[in-house]
Amino acid sequence: MATIIDGKALAALVVEEVAKDVASFEKQYNIKPGLAVVLVGEDPASQVYVRNKVLRANESGLNSIERKLPADVDQATLNKVVDELNQDPAVHGILVQLPLPEHLDEEYIINAIAPEKDVDGFHPVNVGRLNSGQETLTPCTPLGCLIMLQRELGDLTGKNAVIIGRSNIVGKPMAALLLQQSCTVTIVHSRTRDIEEIVKQADIVVAAVGRSEMVKSHWIKPGAAVIDVGINAIEVDGKRKLVGDVDFADVEPVAGAITPVPGGVGPMTIACLMKNTLTAATQQLRK
Ligand code: NDP
Repeated sequence: MATIIDGKALAALVVEEVAKDVASFEKQYNIKPGLAVVLVGEDPASQVYVRNKVLRANESGLNSIERKLPADVDQATLNKVVDELNQDPAVHGILVQLPLPEHLDEEYIINAIAPEKDVDGFHPVNVGRLNSGQETLTPCTPLGCLIMLQRELGDLTGKNAVIIGRSNIVGKPMAALLLQQSCTVTIVHSRTRDIEEIVKQADIVVAAVGRSEMVKSHWIKPGAAVIDVGINAIEVDGKRKLVGDVDFADVEPVAGAITPVPGGVGPMTIACLMKNTLTAATQQLRK
């Protein structure tokens, strides 16, 4: 039976720690670190994410600024909002909730956020810094996964890590972080051959695919640590249910440790956003 990695409890600890550090920051600089969250449109999932982010920001003692824009906002108006936040000294972190409506250019907006305020860590400058081992802002989801793995396994040196998925927001930065920890890292994706055989070699499996319950017990080496990033809504007996990319019931008896969905990676992602906002504020004020 695997250890269930309780992301919710660990996230509460991270937020508590950030709150303590925010209090010291405030004493030292006489300002509160500020997080601005920009929400375009009324996508229900995005609204829930933004609400949770604002809630955690308040719990962390951060100053939260919410900018809501209508779904039909034009690119120039959105650019102007981001630009104002870039210039605002009370704002240390900016997050534009993705995905944006189809008519807006997501890449343009990611590139328009000042790199030092890019608490999502998606700006090419921060991606470059991460990959060259320089001080940066690390994408929140992989950072949360790394914290969970280190807490569960301690030193990760020499571990064989397989990441399923090569997205810019999860798979690739996760690989960079695990490489920094001296893991031997393999990324598999939709074109990979013999995926199950490759995953079976792993001491650490990170699944970030977006396919409900794809990873089965026969893919997993007994005792491996399995981090499930996937969030997939399915219907069971007419009711909506969230499941991961890992078949939890099937894999749990084989794995050494496993994250549940919900209650695993999700809460840690939000906690790491708070951590990044404080990091961004500290890096800005130090200069
Ligand atoms: P993307 O769709 O951007 O990337 C998915 C990756 O999975 C791609 O690299 C794709 O390969 C690969 N893939 C798809 N099908 C297969 C397959 N059959 N076999 C092997 N690889 C496959 O997704 P994201 O990285 O953005 O997100 C992944 C999941 O994580 C989603 O469920 C998302 O909702 C969730 N998520 C959860 C977060 C959290 O806070 N918990 C945060 C971010 C995401 P290819 O590149 O070849 O197409």
